[in-house]
Amino acid sequence: MTEPSPIQPCINCQGGIKHLGSATLMTWLGNDLITVPNFPAWICDICHHRSFDSGALAQLSMLLNPEAGTPIQPIIRPPKDNPPLKSPPPA
Ligand SMILES: [Zn+2]
Repeated sequence: MTEPSPIQPCINCQGGIKHLGSATLMTWLGNDLITVPNFPAWICDICHHRSFDSGALAQLSMLLNPEAGTPIQPIIRPPKDNPPLKSPPPA
């Protein structure tokens, strides 16, 4: 029986219980610091340690990265149909 529990023990203070709430997530997107209010977060009732929901983080990273989900195409070099430009044709 591994049902997801609505509460989690705190890994920071070892004594608190984390409840699912919301907090403002701040993260870097390239050189830009962005804030995401009301982001799902687990908050300890004793030390107020916060850890953001991993599933929500994964969703956010997919939203922020426009290339996420796009299959990476290998660079296909064109066949060598052009002669090297070592000896230009005489004018
Ligand atoms: Zn705690």
